[in-house]
Amino acid sequence: MSKLRLVPLECGWLSTSASSVVAGLTGNVNLPIPSWLVIHPSGQTLLFDTGLHQDLVGGVAARYPLMARQFESTFNSEDTVSSRLANIQIDSLSVDKIVFSHLHFDHCGGTGLIPNAQIIVQRAEWESAHHPKLIEHEVYNPADFDLGHDVLQVEGLHDVFSDGSVLCIPTPGHTAGHQSLRVNLESGPIVLTGDCVYWQEVLEKMLLPPFGFDHEMQLSSMRHLKSLQDIDGCRLLFGHDQAQWEQLELSPMGLS
Ligand SMILES: [Zn+2]
Repeated sequence: MSKLRLVPLECGWLSTSASSVVAGLTGNVNLPIPSWLVIHPSGQTLLFDTGLHQDLVGGVAARYPLMARQFESTFNSEDTVSSRLANIQIDSLSVDKIVFSHLHFDHCGGTGLIPNAQIIVQRAEWESAHHPKLIEHEVYNPADFDLGHDVLQVEGLHDVFSDGSVLCIPTPGHTAGHQSLRVNLESGPIVLTGDCVYWQEVLEKMLLPPFGFDHEMQLSSMRHLKSLQDIDGCRLLFGHDQAQWEQLELSPMGLS
């Protein structure tokens, strides 16, 4: 039987002022936009987040006029999640599952390119992402994610393949139903933090974005992730960490 594998897919970049994503910082930041492919020993495939929407080849303003005030994109047609999958000989039509950390535009934009997958999302996130006020402010856009997929709304911890190999871990705060993904590779457990932690320094200094659903809740989720690192020996892979991303091996075999 083949090993459980985790393959990072680079689905473009966003740049913005650091203070607009983490309160108190200065300068600009470049944010990698990842989608993470998990290949289960059974042959089933899962994506954790789907990157940016293909419209962003024309810039952020092509789809999100309000977000364009804050973010600039570097995104070409080869950066879509389906192109990244095709590069490693995986047909986007064959992907079995999508797990969403949360439903902000940089995490679910490629969902329409993965039409046959079952979506797994925390119920609180799915509900929040349909809130009219949040849609009006471009916090969420149902046209990115509510496309007729089979949607499994979970509440709390969820064992994706019912064998303990891949676990959804609720880490709310950044959004109402944010979750992280634990992938128990043979070489050791990895936790994909999503936007509970953008990058390493943010965790070390317990820094928060200037926005968010609930800061206390996010701090508590950050402490939980830190304990998974410090006590359980999990390797954390952060949501938008340029330095960490540039050191990852972006090969078709990924991590195992
Ligand atoms: Zn994000």
